[in-house]
Amino acid sequence: MRAVVFERYGTPAQVREVPDPEPAEHGVVVRVEATGLCRSDWHGWMGHDPDITLPHVPGHELAGVVEAVGSRVTGWRPGDRVTVPFVCACGTCPACAAGDQQVCERQTQPGFHHWGSFAEYVALDHADVNLVAIPDDMSYATAAALGCRFATAYRAVVQQGRVAAGEWVAVHGCGGVGLSAVMIAAASGARVVAVDVSPQALGLARKFGAAECLDATGVSDPAAAVRELTGGAHLSLDALGSPATCAASVNGLRRRGRHVQVGLLPSADGTTPVPLARAVALELELLGSHGMAAHAYPGMLRLVRSGVLRPDLLVTSTLTLAAAPAALAAMGTAPGAGVTVIEPWSRA
Ligand SMILES: [Zn+2]
Ligand SMILES: [Zn+2]
Repeated sequence: MRAVVFERYGTPAQVREVPDPEPAEHGVVVRVEATGLCRSDWHGWMGHDPDITLPHVPGHELAGVVEAVGSRVTGWRPGDRVTVPFVCACGTCPACAAGDQQVCERQTQPGFHHWGSFAEYVALDHADVNLVAIPDDMSYATAAALGCRFATAYRAVVQQGRVAAGEWVAVHGCGGVGLSAVMIAAASGARVVAVDVSPQALGLARKFGAAECLDATGVSDPAAAVRELTGGAHLSLDALGSPATCAASVNGLRRRGRHVQVGLLPSADGTTPVPLARAVALELELLGSHGMAAHAYPGMLRLVRSGVLRPDLLVTSTLTLAAAPAALAAMGTAPGAGVTVIEPWSRA
C-alpha cells in the first residue's frame, strides 16, 4: 500500500510503498477513505510524542470501510462503514470497566503507538470496543473529522465542561478543535466568545455561532478582554495548547468557573505554568479532556444527523496522499482555517 512515512523527526515525510497491515486477532484492517490532518500529527512528526518509534506513519482521525477482520472480532464484517476514536481502548482494564475508555490504561492510538491512517489501509486494535458505525447519509470526510477534534470538543464542552444554556463560554484557539467547540457550545445555547489571532479562523467562528470574536493580535491581556466582554466566562477552553492560551483561559473565568484543557501542552520539562492562585481564590475547576469513548458517540451522532451540529462545515479542504507531507509540515506554522482531510485513494 501507499503511505506517508517519516524516518526522522522534523524532516520531510515521503509517500512510498510499504507492506499492507494485517489485523490482530481482536482487530480489523480498515481501507482509509478519509483521514484528518491534525496538529497532533504535527507534534508527532516533530518528535514531541514519546510513544512514536521510527520509521512512522502518522494519522489518527479516520473513516473508511472494514477490509479484513481478526478471528476474535464478533461485531464487524468486511464492508462495514466505520470510524474510530483516536484513543483505541483495550476494553478490559479498570478504566474501561468504568466506561472511561478515553483514558484506557492500555490504550493504542493509531498514528502514535502504531502506524496510522495517512495510508491506504490502517490496522485498528480491539475492534469490538472501538469501532463506530457511520450513518449511511454521512460522508467519509465528515466522519473523519469526528474522530479526534469534533468528538474531543464534544466531550470537553458537554461532558467535562457541563455547558449550560445562557452561559458564557470562551474558546481560546480556533483551529479544528476550537471551531468544533464553538459550534457545539453555541448549539447548546451558550454565548461563545472566540479568541484567535487569525481573522480567517475568527470568521469561521462567527459563522459557527460565536457571539463575540476577539482578535488577540497585539492584545496584551486577552483574559482581561474576555472578562470585559463577558463578566468572566462560566466555562473556558484552551483549544490550542500553549502556556499563554492555558493561562488566558484560566484568567478569563469568573468565580467558580470551569477551565477545560483540550490542546496538548508539550514542553521541554513536561510541565506548564497554570495560574493556580486564581484557581484557589475563585474556586475554579481545572479539568482535562482526552478524546471520547466509542460508546458516547451515539448522542453526538444524533445531533449531527438532526442538523443541530454540522461537522461537515468544518472541512475546508481535501488533499491527496501526495500532498500530505507538505501539509503536515505546514501545520506548525500555517495550519490554515478549518479542517483539512486527506483522501488516500484520491489521485486528483
Ligand atoms: Zn487529532
Ligand atoms: Zn482499557
